[in-house]
Amino acid sequence: MADLLDLNAVEAREALDKKAISAVELVTAYVGAAEATSALNNYVVLTADHALAMAADADKRIAGGTAGLLEGLPIGVKDLFCTKGVSSTACSNILKGFTPPYESTVTANLWAAGGVMLGKLNCDEFAMGSGNETSAFGPAINPWQGNDKTNLVPGGSSGGSASAVAARSALMATGTDTGGSIRQPAAFCGVVGLKPTYGRCSRWGIIAFASSLDQAGPFTRTVADNALMMTAMASHDAKDSTSTQTPLQDLMGAVGAGVKGMKIGVPREYVMDGMDNEVVRLWEQGQAWLKDAGAELVDVSLPHTKYALPTYYIIAPAEASSNLARYDGVRYGMRVEAETLDGMYEATRAAGFGDEVQRRIMIGTYVLSAGYYDAYYLKAQKVRRLIKQDFDTAFEKVDALLTPATPSAAFPVGRKIDDPVTNYLNDVFTVPANLAGLPGIAVPGGLTSDGLPLGLQVLGRPFDEASLYRVAGVIEAVAGFTQTPARMAGGTA
Ligand code: GLN
Repeated sequence: MADLLDLNAVEAREALDKKAISAVELVTAYVGAAEATSALNNYVVLTADHALAMAADADKRIAGGTAGLLEGLPIGVKDLFCTKGVSSTACSNILKGFTPPYESTVTANLWAAGGVMLGKLNCDEFAMGSGNETSAFGPAINPWQGNDKTNLVPGGSSGGSASAVAARSALMATGTDTGGSIRQPAAFCGVVGLKPTYGRCSRWGIIAFASSLDQAGPFTRTVADNALMMTAMASHDAKDSTSTQTPLQDLMGAVGAGVKGMKIGVPREYVMDGMDNEVVRLWEQGQAWLKDAGAELVDVSLPHTKYALPTYYIIAPAEASSNLARYDGVRYGMRVEAETLDGMYEATRAAGFGDEVQRRIMIGTYVLSAGYYDAYYLKAQKVRRLIKQDFDTAFEKVDALLTPATPSAAFPVGRKIDDPVTNYLNDVFTVPANLAGLPGIAVPGGLTSDGLPLGLQVLGRPFDEASLYRVAGVIEAVAGFTQTPARMAGGTA
């Protein structure tokens, strides 16, 4: 079966259309791969029977000549997406037992395009984290290992998604990105992850973290696969008032279009204390690759970058504290009984939410409280505007920006989880795009001397995902990143 797992999504689609393989064979191989790599803990629910039934339907459509864009392709879904009739918990105890009677718009789009759901993937609780270590299901593990063979985090919050795509137990996966949760785990696991422009994918049916920042996006092995999945995911949705009517560009066409004549900005503020030398070297290497491919590199300044992280860690918890108020023991998931109604709320929320989620709720309610609102929340909103203006100014001169995706490679499980501030620093290169609503992609660039993947990030103008795919396509072609992780389906798990 290993050869089936070797096919990327574009190749698998061709093989399916030529009837060289069947969707049932492909999906069977992925179910087997998910079972064989269960030690990585990247699935929280495997829906094998459902997947095989969907695959059989896909084979019928292929035979009938009505195959969709993703027909027969096995896809893992971050547990933050509501999936009809299948447990959806945001990896929180408070939602254990919740089975939605509806399907999120993004996943509905994937199934309408013929995609096959393999199951639900591990993530940080309510998508709050950078290592998939706050999950009520325990940490997901990165299939890559350094020389000392320690278990490494896959990044977070979409850690299960990145781990599964890297380990070949999902051909593609959905993720969500509020402050970096697609791009950071993609970089840590050596896969491609896109956070689209805010409004590009519907948020309807996605369990909310911070509504003005959350966006869904695809995880794939290659840039072309990413453009393919993104094309199927995006849609205007009347059920999400922030979803855009702006038409989607030809993303598949952009992948091989090259960067000749493009102006690519290099923001000088993205050099930070404590950043790995190898990250700096890869970033310089990336600049050289793009220059050789015909782009013009331009030095740009984003002066408010240093305020992005504190701004994010005010706005995101503020919105989270409001969004998570609905988990009161009455409507969803778990309830802990008590003498009084208030007592029941308190006992349920104390037992149901983990430490990081409780920390965010406390920060959020504090910055929104009378007396502190102006000093924190309102100030953060003003700084957010300045960060957006920095990007607007930069995009008057350049078509895209090149930055590192993360300040370091993946770190060992347990190393940062007790030190929230160190953990928050993982997001330093990714949060500005969320604050400004811009699209960003992480693409693998190379390995550290310890054999761990590092990613480059490309940021673009709103609704210009195509430029991201042009740049990422060149990086992918030149980097020649073909290495695979130690713990992969078909190898050792
Ligand atoms: N790591 C960041 C946080 O913990 C981002 C999470 C995300 O993008 N969902 O908030």
